[in-house]
Amino acid sequence: MVFKTFLLKYGEIGIKGKNRGQFEDALVLQIRHALSHVEGEFDVHKEQGRIYADVLGDDDSFDPDEVIAALQKVFGLVGICQVMKVPVEDPDAIAEDAIRYIAQTYDMVPVENPVEGSSEGVPFEPDAITFKVHTRRANKHYPVSSMDVDAEVGAKLLDAFPGKMKVDVHDPSMMLYIEVRDEVFIYSKIIPGPGGMPVGTNGKAQLLLSGGIDSPVAGWMIAKRGVTLDATYFHAPPYTSERAKQKVVDLAKLVAQYSGPIRLHVVNFTDIQLAIYDKCPHDELTIIMRRFMMRIAEHFAKQDGSQALITGESIGQVASQTIQSLVCTDDAASIPVFRPLIGFDKQDIIDISLKIGTYETSIQPFEDCCTIFVAKHPVTKPRLDIIKKSEEKLSDVIDGLMEEAVKNTETIVIR
Ligand code: ATP
Ligand code: MG
Repeated sequence: MVFKTFLLKYGEIGIKGKNRGQFEDALVLQIRHALSHVEGEFDVHKEQGRIYADVLGDDDSFDPDEVIAALQKVFGLVGICQVMKVPVEDPDAIAEDAIRYIAQTYDMVPVENPVEGSSEGVPFEPDAITFKVHTRRANKHYPVSSMDVDAEVGAKLLDAFPGKMKVDVHDPSMMLYIEVRDEVFIYSKIIPGPGGMPVGTNGKAQLLLSGGIDSPVAGWMIAKRGVTLDATYFHAPPYTSERAKQKVVDLAKLVAQYSGPIRLHVVNFTDIQLAIYDKCPHDELTIIMRRFMMRIAEHFAKQDGSQALITGESIGQVASQTIQSLVCTDDAASIPVFRPLIGFDKQDIIDISLKIGTYETSIQPFEDCCTIFVAKHPVTKPRLDIIKKSEEKLSDVIDGLMEEAVKNTETIVIR
């Protein structure tokens, strides 16, 4: 028997009360989206504060590991349980189901038709599974109390696996959950979900996505709070290569596994960078360039209906991320800029990128548009008034260049 139902537990619900339904609907949508990429056909539905995914096909139409891996990328889920689903019966029959569940899940052979109490006095094997039965009677019409079900099932398990199972109500290594609803669900494994809130429940933001380690992590963190993502990437052909662009597309794909589809705007930034290089003080290049990135990203944010920008900046990581530099960058945007990594050490960020699977792609060695035009000694304490003065040197060309850049932008929908 293959267990073909997944019980999906969600955690935090943003603004509770009447928004609960919306939250659940968004979660159901994201689960369907995630499962549309794995083999098999599924029916995802909500029922009494629970979400279920039922496999519609045969036992071998799906791979449970693949299903679980996909569900572990759905923000909002805190627990994923592959459950045995049986009809509502008396505790005796439920105990028989529980024995089959344990036999299959833990690869153990039960005694056939054991006499009641026959396990008494049998010595416990050293690796006996310590367990506790936890019954929840959500169906109030069920005539037996949850404590009586616990006791009945517990006793039957002991007799079916003499010496191999041992009750421990304080610190069991296995909790056997029995939920009596319109059907009975039996499970003992709760695989952690990613937490967070379902994407689509908290607006939309525009991620400035580079090919580095930080910005994909920043996007992932904001998406985890339920925010839909779009992204802008600046490249500088022919100074940056097609491979560098492909790397960013690949990163966007990895982030999209969690966030759902992303519209990625690929902006040709070469002429703007050359103009800055030509006309502005070289120690201010990076800051001025960043400010134009913010302005262009904001343009796309407004176009896509995004309420904020996201960057991967963290205080003091490089010259362009000192507080003074951040103040100058921030000034260029008129909508809020979210910097979820602001207080993170590089190692903390690397740890997350490893966990979410972007690290290997991020460290591929391709040139970035910012590194090509960097000064040897960039300002670390830029003053906004001075930066603004330097920008005035661009006044006769910049509007045209910005318009061109926006007009020539390539937009790729990443799924
Ligand atoms: P990352 O690892 O995200 O590239 P970084 O440590 O290299 O960050 P910077 O190069 O200073 O830091 O970039 C700071 C932030 O500015 C990035 O996290 C990203 O949000 C944005 N950014 C930098 N370069 C680009 C680019 N070419 N396209 C889009 N956004 C960029
Ligand atoms: Mg970078």
